[in-house]
Amino acid sequence: MTTQESLQRHLLQLDNRSYKAYKDIQGSYDFSEFTLIVDYVQGDPFAAPSKFRVRVPPNIAQIPRELFHSRSREIALRDYLTRSFDKAAYKISSKRGTGKSGLIAVTRFGQEVLERTSAFIIFSNTSDREDLGGVELRFTVGLPAGGRSILGRQAAEMLCEDIPRIVSQSLKYANLNAAECRRHVETVEDAEWLREQLAETGLVAFVTDGSILPRRTGADDRPLLHDAVVFQSPPSLKVEFNCPNRGLISGMGIPAGITLIVGGGYHGKSTLLRAIELGVYNRIPGDGREFVVTNPAAVKIRAEDGRSVAGVDISPFINHLPQARDTAQFYTTNASGSTSQAANIIEALEVGGRKFGKGFCNGFNGCQPEGRSPREGGRGKEEEGIRKREEDLIMPVLLVDEDTAATNFMIRDRRMQELIAKDREPITPFIDKVKQLYIDYGVSTILVMGGSGDYFDVADTVISMDNFQAYDVTEKAKDIAKNYSINRASEGGKNFGNISQRVPIPASLDPSRGRRDVRVKVRDVDELAFGTEEIDLGAVAQIVDSGQLRAIAAAMVYAKQQYMDGKRTLSEIIDLVMADIDDRGMDILSPFPEGDFAMFRRFELAAAINRLRTLSVVAKM
Ligand code: ADP
Ligand code: MG
Repeated sequence: MTTQESLQRHLLQLDNRSYKAYKDIQGSYDFSEFTLIVDYVQGDPFAAPSKFRVRVPPNIAQIPRELFHSRSREIALRDYLTRSFDKAAYKISSKRGTGKSGLIAVTRFGQEVLERTSAFIIFSNTSDREDLGGVELRFTVGLPAGGRSILGRQAAEMLCEDIPRIVSQSLKYANLNAAECRRHVETVEDAEWLREQLAETGLVAFVTDGSILPRRTGADDRPLLHDAVVFQSPPSLKVEFNCPNRGLISGMGIPAGITLIVGGGYHGKSTLLRAIELGVYNRIPGDGREFVVTNPAAVKIRAEDGRSVAGVDISPFINHLPQARDTAQFYTTNASGSTSQAANIIEALEVGGRKFGKGFCNGFNGCQPEGRSPREGGRGKEEEGIRKREEDLIMPVLLVDEDTAATNFMIRDRRMQELIAKDREPITPFIDKVKQLYIDYGVSTILVMGGSGDYFDVADTVISMDNFQAYDVTEKAKDIAKNYSINRASEGGKNFGNISQRVPIPASLDPSRGRRDVRVKVRDVDELAFGTEEIDLGAVAQIVDSGQLRAIAAAMVYAKQQYMDGKRTLSEIIDLVMADIDDRGMDILSPFPEGDFAMFRRFELAAAINRLRTLSVVAKM
């Protein structure tokens, strides 16, 4: 391997040459404390920056094993190291010429702790001594240019001075803030643990007392600084847990079934639901919502008029459309509010009503992959837990907010039933299906609904938000329902209806564009270019990180190449993709080491495929 000194000499020799000559530096270099790997060199100073890696061996990074000895801890530590590198790179790197010259950057991230391909733990093989961990960190570098020619001296400074300083400050345990690092890891472990307790205690969500739910602004996901009303559970819904690290905590447990969140406008209903939506992910300490946890299969449902729908059986909700359009295999390129909301629900059920075993174990439920030693508590118990979860059929939990729902999909009151006869109204409103969903399929719903009391009849739990404080008003709502009968005729029938499975036609997913076989590109968290198609994911609320969308784009290509055969159903295909990622990591999604992927859920992968306007399917017979 080439040394640091020869890289330095090489860069100085490249000074003033044409930018393309940088291509020569691709390769591995032996620095005194780590290996520097140049995987890809950008073609010009304004193009996407070059891709680099450092590998810091265990004897140098010296990360104590207790910080990564379980899967949830390892994911949290990798996330911490990514943030640590980012901080140091921001401090040390500086602009050094035109375009992206001088930039040293790691993937972008927000408040969520996600499994990321930006950082990996390198395990040492020394079995006789206490194990230490090393780090592989992936980042990008804007190789410096003056105009279009190489700035060799600046490049040598960046690569041979800045990078070693960043590595030393951010990846060597001795230089880290040990208390902060431990808190990061322990917070995530507690949240994972809490999420695992939900199913066993019959809950679908848990909001810890003391949480800060509101955000700084609509565009700033950090906690509100001043005047935030701290969350306190109503006494009747209070549940206690003894977390592995934090010890005893209490909070509001939302039981399985149908839960209504009511209250006046601007009293904090949507803020509570948003926290619950994001409770499927772990969060950094200090977020305010780090101990709000939700069933990992919770899916936000909303109206999304304008989206395309490919052959979804929305007949449980919608029938007898004008012009005799088929709703058992409903196709549209421009859905209405109600048809889009119906499709969103059926699609979540289609891909979600399955076994969440290995395929879902991506750090969201803290399972231990085999071969890793469990944390204290004994191997036997841990293994039993895995087996149990693999057998469990986890059904989605639907989260609906009146702010983003279609009114005619949600309710149809007595007077309207009188005026417009049932045979003139294609929609069976959600209110008449929500109970059947729970009884037939075990699908719980949490619903924000300040505008209609009709739902009192079907709700199991009613929470009122008043001045940002939660109250249990279930009894009161039930009394009102008894005393003020609405005489509504239920329209839902005895059963919810069938949830059908669709088989995607492989040719309808085409990632190619022009001469390129695969061309996918993402913008932020809501736009994905797939071949020549644009997929709008702006309404998919639980894609929270652009890295997730990048991984989803790659997973769509992978799914197409590996598993779409015109026979497998969409949910079978997604099962296989998720299982592969679980076995071999997200790197299988990319031909070269990608530092910009973040882990996603099966629901969001399905959401992207379902919104592809060219998608075409056949119904599974
Ligand atoms: P609703 O859905 O009931 O109309 P929102 O949840 O949209 O109300 O909240 C209205 C406003 O109040 C938002 O600006 C939100 O940030 C703020 N808010 C929500 N919860 C709290 C809280 N606990 N403390 C302080 N402000 C809050
Ligand atoms: Mg609201």
